[in-house]
Amino acid sequence: MIKKFIRKILGVKEDGRDPTQPVILGPEEHKIDPRNVSRNAVTVTQTLQEAGFKAFVVGGAVRDLLLGVKPKDFDIATDATPEQVKRLFRRAFIIGRRFQIVHVMFGQDLLEVTTFRGNGSDNAPKDEHGRVLRDNNFGPQHEDAARRDFTINAMYYDPATQTVLDYHGGIEDIRAKTLRIIGMPEARYREDPVRMLRVVRFAAKLGFTIEPTTRAPIPVMAPLIDNVPAARVFDEMLKLLLSGHALACLKELRSAGLHHGLLPLLDVVLEQPIGMKFVTLALESTDGRVKAGKGVSPGFLFASLLWHQVLEKWNAYRAAGESPIPALHLAADDVLDTQTENLALQRRIATDMRDIWAMQPRFERRTGKAPYKLLEHPRFRAGYDFLLLRCESGELPGEIGEWWTAFYAAEGGEREALLAAANARPRDGESGQKRKRPPRRGPRRRNEGEGDQAPATNSARGGGEE
Ligand code: ATP
Ligand code: MG
Repeated sequence: MIKKFIRKILGVKEDGRDPTQPVILGPEEHKIDPRNVSRNAVTVTQTLQEAGFKAFVVGGAVRDLLLGVKPKDFDIATDATPEQVKRLFRRAFIIGRRFQIVHVMFGQDLLEVTTFRGNGSDNAPKDEHGRVLRDNNFGPQHEDAARRDFTINAMYYDPATQTVLDYHGGIEDIRAKTLRIIGMPEARYREDPVRMLRVVRFAAKLGFTIEPTTRAPIPVMAPLIDNVPAARVFDEMLKLLLSGHALACLKELRSAGLHHGLLPLLDVVLEQPIGMKFVTLALESTDGRVKAGKGVSPGFLFASLLWHQVLEKWNAYRAAGESPIPALHLAADDVLDTQTENLALQRRIATDMRDIWAMQPRFERRTGKAPYKLLEHPRFRAGYDFLLLRCESGELPGEIGEWWTAFYAAEGGEREALLAAANARPRDGESGQKRKRPPRRGPRRRNEGEGDQAPATNSARGGGEE
């Protein structure tokens, strides 16, 4: 009785686990391959430990190590303050306001070193919805563990002793492939609504199941994401889309009730049946590239996700009497304006998107010098990949993509022959049916046969018709 009372005030959990005492696992139990731990991570933990501090690899890196995956980056947790950390390394910078952390650089490699956070977030400044605005209260390691989001993200690995410290049953959840939030789910989502997006991303990426009480509040609490600064939501969206499991993530977002009305981009993407095929292809190809270790350009990705919105507006402007090229630019402006506001699309990404879109009608102009000029465009490759997606989705005849593939690969005289062949081909397509041409508006420009715009007009009515 008295024991139970004492346990209660000490905060011992119902399952009998004392949250201040970690389960400690040795190498035979956790089976982490030390070769998967980066040398720089070992240098950082060792340097801190030699200076008398505690230091561990923490978070996603430990999770990945336990899953036998080589982590892509290493976060370090320590009881040294940011100032103390900074003094120990030649290239170390204190960054951040909301959470102060230290960036330690080794050449191109960057490690984030975080001081253990205490559970003082009860007193931390919050917004009117309960979102924690700043949290720089330092505290003991067990409090740092309790502040982390999911049990599988709250383990610590010491490379020196090769031990894992587990405060919240993370190892069991890893084995059972379960995503479980630490603490009361509602309270944790209120403190930081981005956790709802994180759980979905991890579930899709790791193929884990979201434990029912962790999942239950999400559809109800989803609107809280609206109060999170757009730049942070955008970062998380980017992580989600570049996780190598973007399609699975979007499906999971939908099934968790997270896509609706919250993320303007996803609303657009998931609710346009015409664009669905295009978007699915784009995401499949993105996932494929990420899994193959190839780079993905966020500009290309967002250009794909929003293309059908651009098409729709492009079509509307032309119906209102604009000529094709200015109409395309107006449509791009509209889409970018809305999305920049909602999503904090960085300017560089927006510029890439505009370039990719603006190039598209030029692929349909296969006369004179135009194709040669297009080849010299600094973003030709992205525009060409985008064109292939349009062909693959059925928006454009496959022949255009094939022609460009040949033209791109060809040398010298072969290109002339390809051009001649393209011009010899009847303009009204393989089927022999005449395409409807838009009524001519404004003066015809030199080298800009309007007949070449016809396929775009067709596509602007919506993909998948051909
Ligand atoms: P990955 O880097 O593979 O996306 P990760 O788990 O390492 O996954 P990070 O964003 O790098 O994710 O965060 C590192 C760690 O910090 C997490 O593992 C978690 O312990 C903690 N963390 C990150 N974001 C939050 C959050 N919003 N709430 C609570 N803890 C968080
Ligand atoms: Mg990480």
